[in-house]
Amino acid sequence: MQRILVLGAGFAGLWSAVGAARRMQELGIGPDDIQIVVVNRTAWHSIRVRNYESDLSETRIPLAQILDPIGVMHIEGEVTDIDVSQRRVAFSTLGGTESLPYDRLVFALGSCLVRPPIPGLAEYAFDVDTYEAAARLNHHIAMLPFRKASSAQYNVLVVGGGLTGIEVATEMFGKLRAVIADAAASEHTHSPRVVLADRQPWIGSGMGESARPVISEALGTLGIETRVGVSVASVDEDGATLTSGERIAAATVVWCAGMQAHPLTACFPVERDRLGRLPVDSCLKIRTMVAEFAAGDVAWLPIDGIHSSVMSCQHGRPMGRFAGHNVVCDLGGQPMLPLSIDWYVTCLDLGPWGAVYTEGWDRRVVSKRAAAKSIKETINRERIYPPRSGKRQEILDASTPIVQKPPSLKH
Ligand SMILES: Cc1cc2nc3c(=O)[nH]c(=O)nc-3n(C[C@H](O)[C@H](O)[C@H](O)COP(=O)(O)OP(=O)(O)OC[C@H]3O[C@@H](n4cnc5c(N)ncnc54)[C@H](O)[C@@H]3O)c2cc1C
Repeated sequence: MQRILVLGAGFAGLWSAVGAARRMQELGIGPDDIQIVVVNRTAWHSIRVRNYESDLSETRIPLAQILDPIGVMHIEGEVTDIDVSQRRVAFSTLGGTESLPYDRLVFALGSCLVRPPIPGLAEYAFDVDTYEAAARLNHHIAMLPFRKASSAQYNVLVVGGGLTGIEVATEMFGKLRAVIADAAASEHTHSPRVVLADRQPWIGSGMGESARPVISEALGTLGIETRVGVSVASVDEDGATLTSGERIAAATVVWCAGMQAHPLTACFPVERDRLGRLPVDSCLKIRTMVAEFAAGDVAWLPIDGIHSSVMSCQHGRPMGRFAGHNVVCDLGGQPMLPLSIDWYVTCLDLGPWGAVYTEGWDRRVVSKRAAAKSIKETINRERIYPPRSGKRQEILDASTPIVQKPPSLKH
C-alpha cells in the first residue's frame, strides 16, 4: 500500500485531502492501494479568515465531519520535522512522538504571524492568527468590565494596517460597546477608543490607491484613530509606546503586522521567496522535488503565469483541490492538471460601515458599503465552507479540480 501524507487541514490541506480522495474514487483506486493520512495540530478545520469576528462559534468544523465520510484518516498531531531524503515526517501527539513514511507528501501548514522581539510584545499583545488566539482576545474583551476602571480600560491599539488589522479595528467598537452594555457600566465608564497604527504612510497600503480613500472614509466614520509611519517601541500591561514617542494607554494591544510561511518550509532544500514560501510548478509540485507537493500559504506560484499567488484562501483552496488531484495522478503515472487562475479579487470587511470589494490585480473598487458587505458575508459564511452534510459524494464533488468564478456582484 502507498501513502499520501497531507500536513495541515486548513484551506489548502483539507481540500488536498478531499481532492485526493475524489481522484482515487474517479480512478477506481481503493484504500488498500493508497492510504490518505492528514496530520493537523487540532481536530478542526478553522475558517481562519473569520478570526476577527465577535462570534467565533461557527468558525471551526470538526475534521471528522468532512474526512470520516470519505475514508481519510486524520491524526491530531504537531508536525516537528520532515526528512525528505528518507520521505518521513515526525510529529508529536498526546501519546508521544511518532513518525510516518510517505510516498507522496502535500505540505500545507499555512503561515504564522511574525512577532519581532519588541519589548513586551510576546507577553502583552493579542493576535487573531489562530482560532485559539482570536478566542483569547474575545475573552479578554469580555473581561474588560472586571478590570480596575481606568482611562485605558476600553482603549484598543491595533498594530498593522493591512487587511487583518483593518478588519480587527473596524469590528472592535462593536465588541467593546457590547461588553460595556452587558456590564451596564456606570456613567463614569470611559468611552471606548480604537487606534490603528502602521509603519507605512497609509493604512491599507496593500489594498491599492482605488480602495484607500474608501478605507479612510470607513475608518473616519467609525471613529477609528490612525497613526501612520510609526511602529511600536514597547508594549506593557497598560498600553504601548510608539516609535514616535507617543504613549497609547490601552488595556488591549492587538498585533497584526507581518505574515511568514510556516518555518518547516526550511526542511525542503529549495530557495524560498521573501515570505518564506516554497516555489511550486503549476501542478503544485515543489520545484526540483520528486515526491513533495505544497499548497496554500507555504507555496509560491505564478498563479496566472505572471502574478505571484497571494497568501489567501482565495488561492489556498484551489491550490489544495489541484494538489490533491495531482498527487494521486503522480502516484499512478497519470497526467497532472496545471492550475491557472485568471482573476483576482479582494473583499475587505469594514465593520458596521460595510465592506469594499475590488477586482483585478490593480484592485479597482467595484463595490462598497452594504453591497460589498453582502459579498463578504457570502464568502465568509458560505463560499469557503466545505459541505457539512456528512454526505460522501457531496464532499468529494466539492473538490473537483476546477477554478470557481469570482464571487458574484449580484449579492
Ligand atoms: C484574521 C484573518 C483574516 C483573513 N482574511 C482573509 C480574507 O479576507 N481573504 C483571504 O483570502 N484570506 C484571508 N486571510 C488569510 C487566510 O486565512 C490564509 O491565507 C489561509 O488560511 C491559508 O490557508 P492554508 O491552508 O495555507 O493555511 P491555514 O488555513 O493556516 O492552515 C494551516 C493548518 O496547518 C495546521 N498547522 C500549522 N502548523 C502545524 C504543525 N506544526 N503541525 C500540525 N499542524 C499544523 C494549522 O492548525 C492549520 O489547520 C486571513 C487571515 C487571517 C488570520
